Amino acid sequence: MNLNDELFEVVIGLEVHLQLTNLKTKLFCSCDSNYRDAAPNSHTCPVCLGLPGSLPVMNEKAIEFATKLALALNCTINNSSYFFRKNYFYPDLPKNFQISQYNKAGGKAFADGGFIKINSNNHKKIIDLNRIHLEEDPARLVHLGSIRTSPYTLVDYNRSGITLIEIVTEPVLSSPGEAREFLNQLKLIVLYTGISDLSLEGSLRVDANISIKGHPRAEVKNINSFKEVESALVYEIMRQKFELKKGKEIIQETRHWDGRVSIPLRTKEFEKDYRYFPEQDLVPIEIDDNYIDEVKLSLPEMPYERVIRLQNQYKLSEFDAENLILDKYVADFYEDGVNSEASYGPEEFKLYCNWLMNDIVGWLNEHNKAINEVNLKPHYIVDLIWNINEGYITTKMAKSFIDSMMRGRTISQLIKDKGKKRISDESVLKKYTKEIIKENQEIVEDLHTNNKAIEALIGRVMKKTKGQADPKITRRILKELLKIREK
Ligand SMILES: [Zn+2]
Repeated sequence: MNLNDELFEVVIGLEVHLQLTNLKTKLFCSCDSNYRDAAPNSHTCPVCLGLPGSLPVMNEKAIEFATKLALALNCTINNSSYFFRKNYFYPDLPKNFQISQYNKAGGKAFADGGFIKINSNNHKKIIDLNRIHLEEDPARLVHLGSIRTSPYTLVDYNRSGITLIEIVTEPVLSSPGEAREFLNQLKLIVLYTGISDLSLEGSLRVDANISIKGHPRAEVKNINSFKEVESALVYEIMRQKFELKKGKEIIQETRHWDGRVSIPLRTKEFEKDYRYFPEQDLVPIEIDDNYIDEVKLSLPEMPYERVIRLQNQYKLSEFDAENLILDKYVADFYEDGVNSEASYGPEEFKLYCNWLMNDIVGWLNEHNKAINEVNLKPHYIVDLIWNINEGYITTKMAKSFIDSMMRGRTISQLIKDKGKKRISDESVLKKYTKEIIKENQEIVEDLHTNNKAIEALIGRVMKKTKGQADPKITRRILKELLKIREK
């Protein structure tokens, strides 16, 4: 079956739940929010266990973090909003309701609108957001094996009451690839704001509403990782197309993604089933414009702003700048490196970027490592480029240094090591150089009009000596010999 079948226009809307992992305590109590690796049910108190008589108290820092994210996503923050109880019965909710926000029945979301710009098929596309709101995370249900076969369910309340932000997009995504790109951009923005580390397991969960235009939609829940989103969407789109091609209609329902297939969980609840009503145990959230301005001032540079600055400051292309910022730490590394050398201009800025993005990031991807997990220092690449420019090493030799550099070897150490086998005896080099000149008369001719042809000759000497000739001495000898020939 063809996914791009034009008869079937795909419509995707996402509800992204992200934990504010950089908060120290939970949303309504002072339990430690760093529950990962903790013994089950060890980070709990009467509030997050939902015991009768306990009262929630708002975490002020969570408001600040939500404000930061709302600003970074270009949303309009509501000056006054309050919490609702979303009622449902499920073992992960000890109170039988979740404290959340609601944009109906007189309620308002934390912030409305907003957008994220993504690259889709080499075009920029604006993905409009509907709203973002704050809510508490339910507890974690643990199944033995899979949800279908487990004989019982365990409940860990350590996650109960962790701060979540839900981001709801408009149904404007039109492919699994766009959804992936959207999540990548979102993840980047969240990282830059400093409110959360979304690489932590379970810190980001996605519910996806998927439909073929003109037909009912299905909601796929519990997509627990970035990687899974794309495969869950691909599967669900295929399933719906297949049903329609068989002449069946899509049932509006909630489906569970189990990592391989989506399975029916329950027919879709309607909003009335949740019996939303205001949470009277919490005061409304009041945010004035002064507060918003204050938070705005504290907001660091955002990735999309950094792209523009990198282009202006280092004369990089949009392509290079966008590539650099994909990993915040790679972009930081780049700026540390190029700023450590006062003499650098546009040519070196570009060279440094090429070495970093091709050779270094290539190595990192191959070894599944992040730039802050290796011993490479930003100045090593400066040294590398300098040694190439001065003729101490060839580009080829520099590339052979990469692996050792990643393990913390400096360029001077590496050159010293290589030097043991280095041919720097002038009489030996002269012999090789003369041979190369004799064998490559056309390149020598080329030198009259093209200064760079000398690089080709040095390259031939290096090749002939299996990379052992001292490039600097070779260059000098070549120049001397060729001058004599020119006379
Ligand atoms: Zn608690």
